[in-house]
Amino acid sequence: MTRKQKIYEGKAKILYEGPRSNTLIQYFKDEATAFNAKKKASIEGKGILNNLLSEHFMKGLNLIKVPNHFIERLNTREQLIEKCEIIPLEIVVRNVVAGSMSKRLGLIEGGELSRPLIEFYLKNDELGDPLVTEPTILALKWANKIEIDEMTALALQVNYFLSGLMYAVNIKLVDFKIEFGRSLNEQKKKLIVADEISPDSCRLWDISSGDKLDKDIFREDLGNLLDGYSEIARRLGVLPENFRDQQKK
Ligand code: C5P
Repeated sequence: MTRKQKIYEGKAKILYEGPRSNTLIQYFKDEATAFNAKKKASIEGKGILNNLLSEHFMKGLNLIKVPNHFIERLNTREQLIEKCEIIPLEIVVRNVVAGSMSKRLGLIEGGELSRPLIEFYLKNDELGDPLVTEPTILALKWANKIEIDEMTALALQVNYFLSGLMYAVNIKLVDFKIEFGRSLNEQKKKLIVADEISPDSCRLWDISSGDKLDKDIFREDLGNLLDGYSEIARRLGVLPENFRDQQKK
């Protein structure tokens, strides 16, 4: 069988050319990285869970008409996605103070925000993904005003949807990061949610115990990352029965 052409390899995923025009295959690796890849590990089975969870979240977004790149899951580690022109921004939505916000502003982790906060960061590993303002985005033409407003509106819809989905399984959505791309299938260059939505890119806390179930387990050495991810998948009903057998590549 001919191996598909690799287009890009990132820290946690590989993109291959897809079987049709304007499609790609997204492969989920087991590698976990934190602090701009200064901390690294391979956690067997993480890619399988992120593939399943990202599928689950993206399908849910389809139901509420938030356009996204997901087409279909192909196997345990790969999904077919729509190719798009990635906007070089990470959009972070926060409901609770945590992570870089708590460090930057000297705030205790866990404080509720009076309204969801949306922040834009430049996707640039060398610079450590700096926080950027709307005037900067406009001046450097990373996105136009209509696109910024659209990303903001869609990010809020994703937040309300994911918050409710997680609340139903006793999990608090603290914050998350999403990325957007411009669709190549339409002349208008419609924005679609791209990349992934998974516990690698969200903070998820158990509501009763306050336990962290997301990548902070790895960042802060709190225990076994896979236990947190499997617990999220189990509560959402997407943990495969034979997961332990599938873990090996
Ligand atoms: O580190 P920070 O607090 O800014 O992260 C906010 C949210 O965005 C967290 O859920 C984190 O996992 C996610 N994030 C990400 N990729 C990055 C930076 C942050 O998925 N490069």
